[in-house]
Amino acid sequence: MSDYQFPSALAVTTTGGWARPGWWDIIDEARKDRTPSGRFGPADNREFLDDACELAIRDQEAAGLDILTDGEHRRGGWIEGLTGNMPGLRVKPAPRKLGAIGWDQLPVYEVIAPLDGIESIWDFTGEYEFLRARTSRRPKIGMPGPYGITTELDFSPTYRTRRECADALVPAIRADIKKLVAAGCDYIQIEEPLTPSHAAEDRTPENLVEVINSVVDGITGCTFVVHICFGSFRRLPYAKRTYRWLFPALLDANVHGFSLEFGAREMAEIDLVGTWDRDRILSAGLIDIKTHYSEAPEDIIERVRACLQYRDPDKLEISTDCGLRRVPRYLAMSKMSAAAEAARRLRQTG
Ligand SMILES: [Zn+2]
Repeated sequence: MSDYQFPSALAVTTTGGWARPGWWDIIDEARKDRTPSGRFGPADNREFLDDACELAIRDQEAAGLDILTDGEHRRGGWIEGLTGNMPGLRVKPAPRKLGAIGWDQLPVYEVIAPLDGIESIWDFTGEYEFLRARTSRRPKIGMPGPYGITTELDFSPTYRTRRECADALVPAIRADIKKLVAAGCDYIQIEEPLTPSHAAEDRTPENLVEVINSVVDGITGCTFVVHICFGSFRRLPYAKRTYRWLFPALLDANVHGFSLEFGAREMAEIDLVGTWDRDRILSAGLIDIKTHYSEAPEDIIERVRACLQYRDPDKLEISTDCGLRRVPRYLAMSKMSAAAEAARRLRQTG
């Protein structure tokens, strides 16, 4: 097991990206014009992303978070930027672009060549080094796991099953993790959200465990938490909201803990945590990213107390259900400030 020590009991963190500032949309529009006469050069683009990440770090510090990410603004989305960057993929436009929000409004990436030759998924180490240089608080890197990356892939031209496609991505993910650990990163969240298509295919708990273990086995000096949520597309979930079918099989994953979504589900199934071994970390999603209601500290204290029935405070993180990228920035600040205040009160009074 890793000897990672949380910066405090009931450490406050997020899972994934931070809220984008309103001005992002205007500048993002301008920078998408990559023609020679476009308004952005590579240096402008870098400065824009550096500034956005710097602001995300300052926001998280101001809200009182203990464990920070760089906001993940460089990725352009949860995995869109990553998959758009990978060789062997051909983008197909979304089949439907009008009307109500739906899963079929995402572009699909066809896998037209084997993916096992890819050396790296993304420059996570660059993100980590930027973050570490700009905060004295604890840095964390979130990255999609192999099944997670296949979320928007049509693997059928190259692979028979989603599992085969996920397996092909393992070497690149391991290489990225090893690079991160060599750079000093000691806390990584691997993200494996549940999706409708996966449930109908081969994403059994046993397959998920095997894939996770193939990513982390043999890598020491780093604490791994696996984030499993029910997805968030334009802040709508897309999988059946239960974890019961995953346990106890998921406990065979050789990771230090799990990041699960409870805030939007009024703490349903928190009893499952009582079946885990005592050392396993619960990074508890207690802040609902899918509501405009800003939780008060009292709301969060109540949710933390539900977790404390099953987990000691030094194995319990206060986190968000999923990333905050599409949450208005003022609301993200309000929700996370309340989370930090809840943690402060609980540390004082128990
Ligand atoms: Zn999530």
